[in-house]
Amino acid sequence: MKIFRDSGKLRKWCAERKAAGAKIALVPTMGCLHEGHLSLVREAKRKGADEIVVSIFVNPVQFGPNEDYAKYPRSEKSDLAKCRAEGAGAVFLPSPELMYAADHSVYVDETRLSKGLCGARRPGHFRGVCTVVAKLFNIVRPDFAVFGRKDWQQAQIVKRMVRDLDFGIEIVTAPIVRESGGLAMSSRNGYLSDEERGKALAINKAIAGVRCGMPAAQEKRRARSVLEKAGLKVDYVEMVDSSTLEPVSKTGKGTTVLVAAFAGATRLIDNRQL
Ligand code: AMP
Repeated sequence: MKIFRDSGKLRKWCAERKAAGAKIALVPTMGCLHEGHLSLVREAKRKGADEIVVSIFVNPVQFGPNEDYAKYPRSEKSDLAKCRAEGAGAVFLPSPELMYAADHSVYVDETRLSKGLCGARRPGHFRGVCTVVAKLFNIVRPDFAVFGRKDWQQAQIVKRMVRDLDFGIEIVTAPIVRESGGLAMSSRNGYLSDEERGKALAINKAIAGVRCGMPAAQEKRRARSVLEKAGLKVDYVEMVDSSTLEPVSKTGKGTTVLVAAFAGATRLIDNRQL
């Protein structure tokens, strides 16, 4: 497995592998890899990738000033071992200084799908995501890239960016991988105390309880009450149209239910397609 810290060397290696006929997949991550991330690597394999490039980069541009950039968990050694075990062809571990020139001044802004949900609560977050993903796409030039539906809004925004900016890269999405109690796996779960972890189980319960064919306002209230009774602080509960990401008034097939809630200081997200 190749390890690159320099985008120029990775670009050259990818171009050579491509010229040799390899189908290249990219799996972008922020590291501290868990089964959710590894499922994306497996999906890339299943989809016929000859070379899988995993990027591990805690992207400063997608964190707000009061968010957890500095304390975000980093575990390079075990991440590399996991990538090797899964058969990744290359891992890209750039430094922030390498990714962003001191006078970096160009960003990618999605202006519609990123207005609500996490985009409304985390100003600038999706601008940071789109910018770093666009950079990774330009460096690796993959045939396809795999994203988890755990970050469902992110996947929709990346698909829109690829369409609107003609990247010509297929975006594959993979299902949410959960812990045994139903909590969606996340690198941030490591922040949780045992008590908070117990409370966090209510997130999946709340979205699992949402019914089809009902007034969205009523289902939102029900879900919110499950979260609050468990002692979580609700950031949002939303029911949106899966293609426009606009709120719906009635739930049904094609509705996506999304929750963001705080267990203590840790913000967790989850979602489900009805
Ligand atoms: P992150 O490292 O949190 O930025 O996530 C990198 C990629 O892994 C994103 O495409 C996420 O959606 C995906 N991912 C993270 N957690 C999970 C999970 N529990 N199940 C499926 N995909 C996930």
